[in-house]
Amino acid sequence: MNESTHISNPDVVLVGSGIMSATLGAMLKALQPELRVQLYEMTDELAQEASFGWHNAGTGHAGICELSYTPNYGPDGEVDIRKAIEIFHQFEHSKQFWGYAVRSGIIKDASSFINPVPHLSFVFGQEQVDFLHSRYKQMRAHHFFKEMEYTIDRNTIRDWAPLLVAGRHETPIAATRMMHGSDVNFGALARQLVEWLGRQEGCGYATGHRVTGLTKVADTWELKVHDAKTGQTFCNQARFVFLGAGGGTLPLLQQAGVSEGKGLGGFPIGGQWLVCDKPEIVAQHTAKVYGMSPGSAPTMAVPHLDTRIIDGRKALLFGPYAKWTTKFLHKKGKPTDLPFSIRPDNLFSLIKVGLHNIPLVRYLFQQGTQSMKARMGELQKFYPDASEADWKLIDAGIRVQAIKKQDGDAGIVHFGTEVLTTADRSLSALLGASPGASVSSNIILQVVRECFGDVLKTEAGHERMKAMIPSYDVDLTLPESAPLHDRLSREAFASLGIA
Ligand SMILES: Cc1cc2nc3c(=O)[nH]c(=O)nc-3n(C[C@H](O)[C@H](O)[C@H](O)COP(=O)(O)OP(=O)(O)OC[C@H]3O[C@@H](n4cnc5c(N)ncnc54)[C@H](O)[C@@H]3O)c2cc1C
Repeated sequence: MNESTHISNPDVVLVGSGIMSATLGAMLKALQPELRVQLYEMTDELAQEASFGWHNAGTGHAGICELSYTPNYGPDGEVDIRKAIEIFHQFEHSKQFWGYAVRSGIIKDASSFINPVPHLSFVFGQEQVDFLHSRYKQMRAHHFFKEMEYTIDRNTIRDWAPLLVAGRHETPIAATRMMHGSDVNFGALARQLVEWLGRQEGCGYATGHRVTGLTKVADTWELKVHDAKTGQTFCNQARFVFLGAGGGTLPLLQQAGVSEGKGLGGFPIGGQWLVCDKPEIVAQHTAKVYGMSPGSAPTMAVPHLDTRIIDGRKALLFGPYAKWTTKFLHKKGKPTDLPFSIRPDNLFSLIKVGLHNIPLVRYLFQQGTQSMKARMGELQKFYPDASEADWKLIDAGIRVQAIKKQDGDAGIVHFGTEVLTTADRSLSALLGASPGASVSSNIILQVVRECFGDVLKTEAGHERMKAMIPSYDVDLTLPESAPLHDRLSREAFASLGIA
């Protein structure tokens, strides 16, 4: 379906209809009801790229189960949990904003996008078991993770996730569980936020419309927009532009020619999943189970066995398997995306990063070309009785990892999502990796602070933001914030229908 509503000379143009632009659009309109906002999406339907349900794992990343967020033993010999605390805190902003979206009628039915699914970490072998125990001890001491449970008992693990134990012999195993985990359909969420935005006075969205260029003229951005249906290109203007175009962000940033984008490069990593929808198997597993990263794998390739709930149907998903690609977008990307993104200002960083990451490139190539038997071997480390006949391989989304000049020695695959804002605050761009979607409200709050900070200083603006994200100006990680965190978390879960 091709939707097309046009607002001429809006205050804000959002490029892309994934979770990032969708969140910024809804948040800004709720913050400043008089704002005029136009969103352009190049595919015919909303949120069909990285945010689309089957293109990501739908884990509401809260730092609970992902072992890659607690990677090192610190100087005292204990696991360092600072990253997990940070992600949990950021996810609280999303929970609060999504709860607000449901309470205020922006979204009618929370279960259309979020469902409760316990989060487990699962390890095998004595070394991994010792690591998980140390991690558990550290995490349990923080109020964020006080509900965490730990066990080495097979019967308990069987009770938590029967598929993990069936057919497994002798090796020591251990697991942690937190009941308050979630599965999120970020595509469904983004779609509903954009549709709400489109119904607001002075706002519109147009699918099948690709932004092909942007130029700064005095204090205004002039955008060239191509309409796929008519084949025409037209211009629109706005004082503020947000590039939430996923893999399409880097090329647009390069076109805009802003100095902040100089030297930036992108490195795409594709993915694949194994999916099972056989009811008798699906019914046996209600959990998101994360293991440890295998050897040279990038942190994003940590294997996990997930319950997914998409459009009301439950399925199991395992992966991701990384895949070599030179496309920046799954649907509308081209193999020339990577070579065409190479510029004199990023060539050196790209070469340097390439030389430092030969094992990664080899890994991506090996992953993408491996046989179904080898893929099943990975799955069987989690679910020993898994049978090839019950699983099929599908493509996941593409992540374009940002490469910055100073990344040369550090390696390219790192956590987080990069927000880049021009000095005059007229343009913000998002270059990103995981845990982007889960912490989208926190990331967008950062954009609002940087580019619309004056609104937050007014009484009305502050109150509106407090209604959306009550703890936006409070540090919930501090011990004295524990009672406030408990209350806000309970309220958000209640709004989201999660007991
Ligand atoms: C394999 C995989 C697994 C993941 N798992 C998780 C997970 O479990 N939990 C989690 O929180 N995150 C996960 N992520 C990350 C998450 O998917 C992303 O952080 C998030 O979806 C990014 O949203 P976005 O809005 O920035 O981009 P997108 O959803 O990609 O949206 C960008 C949109 O911009 C449009 N666009 C591009 N160029 C143009 C243009 N020139 N004009 C108009 N429109 C344009 C695209 O068509 C697209 O619709 C995963 C990602 C991958 C790839």
